[in-house]
Amino acid sequence: MQQILEAIQAGASSDEFANLVIPESYRAAFVKRDETAMFDGIDSWDKDPRKSLHVDDVATPELAPDEVYVAVMASSINFNTVWTSIFEPLPTFGFLDKMGRQNEWGKRHSLPYHVVGSDASGVVVHVGSAVRNWKPGDRVTVHCNYVDDQDPSAHNDSMLASNQLIWGFETNFGGLADLAVVKANQLMPKPTHLSWEEAAVNALCSSTSYRMLVGDHGARMKQGDSVLIWGATGGIGGYAVQYVLNGGGTPIGVVSSPERAELLNKMGCEAVIDRRAENYQFWSDEHTQDESEWRRFGKRIRELNGGEDVDIVFEHPGRSTMGASVFAAKRGGTIVTCAATSGYMVEFDNRHFWMKLKKLLSSHFANYAEAYAANKLLNQGRVQPLLTATYDLEHVGDAALSVHHNEAEGKLGVLCLAPEKNMGIDDPAKRERIGEEKITIFRS
Ligand code: NAP
Repeated sequence: MQQILEAIQAGASSDEFANLVIPESYRAAFVKRDETAMFDGIDSWDKDPRKSLHVDDVATPELAPDEVYVAVMASSINFNTVWTSIFEPLPTFGFLDKMGRQNEWGKRHSLPYHVVGSDASGVVVHVGSAVRNWKPGDRVTVHCNYVDDQDPSAHNDSMLASNQLIWGFETNFGGLADLAVVKANQLMPKPTHLSWEEAAVNALCSSTSYRMLVGDHGARMKQGDSVLIWGATGGIGGYAVQYVLNGGGTPIGVVSSPERAELLNKMGCEAVIDRRAENYQFWSDEHTQDESEWRRFGKRIRELNGGEDVDIVFEHPGRSTMGASVFAAKRGGTIVTCAATSGYMVEFDNRHFWMKLKKLLSSHFANYAEAYAANKLLNQGRVQPLLTATYDLEHVGDAALSVHHNEAEGKLGVLCLAPEKNMGIDDPAKRERIGEEKITIFRS
């Protein structure tokens, strides 16, 4: 891997990259199949990713014709790596075994270890024989929608493909490693003004928020719409705020501290609810929701939103908030959801839903076109990376724990092959034009 790194740093030509030897093994972060019971009987909160995530050398898998090897300069922590590392709601080895039954190439994935990570920035070092649009030496980011495009169901909208998977979560050989195996149709050009770690943190979260709010398959926010955004300084929430502001809408951001409220104001989001300070208790006990708390929440939203209910609710906490989210959407409004961080058995009052003709929309990551559109906005400097802090791969467990415990705003980057931070900026003049302050807003 040292030779590959030197070639990247020396700006080697495509031919020089193509002649490099791919090492037989590489450094990666993974969980082990024989440790999936290690947290049995322990409370979710106390399950510690530092114990389950290992960093060591693993064997380099063979490359399928439609795949490339990417030398990963940086990656990021997503919540799916937290789920994998605490083996909830179920160990991810089941996904790998299912893949193993798909076909010959799928078999490579069913292993005693699972290399995790669903984001990456880096350099293509070798391409399979069927790859046409990418070549060794290309500087790329990687999105995590993994589909077999020879399946007819993968066309129209590839998120509806019967074999659609999330790379590094439902597949092996993910991005938290020095080398990754990805399909050519996961590649996107690296935004030229960003460092490796700034470029690495976006694809999963920004594309998810793009589909939920902007793309044809989501809530299709339009100018003037007001959007309630839970976790508005979190991974997907922070990109959602930017999409709403860019699209001429009004974000109403929900966060849990005065510092996060201030950060939202700095981003240009004026309407902010500090859910901790307001002490909403939507559930009065484990089984009962308190409608008067939904009403108190709705009243606060209207105070901030010119007396109106919101057009769209950007929902992902799940069980703890879904009742309030359905209540808070306006008559005919849309609740769009992609997750259930606090619990997936959600409950809402159907009367508020049907009598007010609301819509509940499910969303999951993004197809290639949507991920590409989101990447383009980053490359144009119209959406900023939400990098808050950067870890090295050896400390991936600390980074995952921080996300698990909701300690960090925005996104946590992880340096893989990149020896230090702030490397990989190809167009400093463009960076200056866009503005350092904007690009680093979550680090100031
Ligand atoms: P994150 O960076 O940890 O942010 C989540 C935010 O949600 C936190 O900052 C927190 O904000 C808020 N939150 C957490 N628990 C809450 C609760 N009980 N009630 C209200 N707010 C709560 O995570 P993320 O990357 O944004 O991901 C959020 C969820 O979406 C995760 O479950 C993840 O797995 C899922 N996700 C799904 C997809 C998909 O394709 N389906 C893609 C990306 C993410 P405050 O404490 O400041 O309010």
